[in-house]
Amino acid sequence: MIPDSKIDEIRERIDLVALMGRHGVELKKSGRSFKGCCPFHQEKTPSFHVWPEERRFKCFGCQAGGDAFSFLQRLFGKSFLDTVRDLAKDAGVDLDEAIDPGLKEKAQIKDATDVAAEHFKSRLWDAVVGKRAREYLLSRGVTEDVARAFGLGWAPLAWTELADKLRERGLIAAAEKAGLVSPRKTGDGHYDMFRGRLIIPIRSPEGRTIAFGGRLLEGDDGPKYLNSRESKLYNKSETLYGLDQARDEVRKKKSVVLCEGYFDCIGLHQAGVKNAVALCSTALTPGHMTVLARAEGKELVLLLDGDDAGRKAVERLAAPILAAGGKARVAALPDGEDPDTWARKVGPEAVHKLIETAPTL
Ligand SMILES: [Zn+2]
Repeated sequence: MIPDSKIDEIRERIDLVALMGRHGVELKKSGRSFKGCCPFHQEKTPSFHVWPEERRFKCFGCQAGGDAFSFLQRLFGKSFLDTVRDLAKDAGVDLDEAIDPGLKEKAQIKDATDVAAEHFKSRLWDAVVGKRAREYLLSRGVTEDVARAFGLGWAPLAWTELADKLRERGLIAAAEKAGLVSPRKTGDGHYDMFRGRLIIPIRSPEGRTIAFGGRLLEGDDGPKYLNSRESKLYNKSETLYGLDQARDEVRKKKSVVLCEGYFDCIGLHQAGVKNAVALCSTALTPGHMTVLARAEGKELVLLLDGDDAGRKAVERLAAPILAAGGKARVAALPDGEDPDTWARKVGPEAVHKLIETAPTL
């Protein structure tokens, strides 16, 4: 879809050493190349080499190697196309003339989503506006650090706060496609879909917000949890909540803890289970298994509620795991417990013990 000449142009323009530096790889010059500790395996003696003139890298420890594109793909588990788009932006290469209209729509949905994410965050941390939502987080034991790391936000009980902002920026049509606003049934204009809700941004593995979950806190408008609709940006059968926060730990441990709710995932992270992710729907799909494989999560630990619903979930999730030939274990919580409240009650050590001793699926 993108001509090779454009891809070459991007590769030529990217400073590989600086790019890696921005992503936490410290490199020291050694002769014609640069050397540092490999981000793809754990090591104390540097065996990760970068040759900036040749635009390539190679690790002599784990054999990872390639160019700027493969570096970012591997690091974030992203598709080649998304990586090209991101690097084109960094390199100042204009892809618009080379790409199809569908990608342009996707770019506008991205912009609308970014505006919304910033808006919701600013509302949560506003001293007055966000008070109720911050109290709720506190009552669930979510610290400010964790709330900020997960980018949580607040959509006040208002009708057009976000819609007004989006219209000003010419993004209202894209916002409608993303399910952020809806056209009024009578008259003109759009109204906000998320109102009186604590906002949980759903992010891609590299940390870009692609959708939102909203938990009702004020008013009685709609279901307890409302999710953005699927869009060119967001496909729930390929998205795992929390993977952006979990990916480093997943790569280190080669293991993923899977739970069912956003707050279970957040609570587990707070209890030190940094490789926890959650489903954005009830189904585990082959798409999820691919995402997990890309993130180097070779083993899956299901951590589910200790009730009938939890046991049914194990049965539901088992088929796609076994079909994908995946390795999995099941950490069953005591009867009547859910991961979030239980982790808070027993503390990190007991949680780790449960996960480590979990029997195989
Ligand atoms: Zn390596």
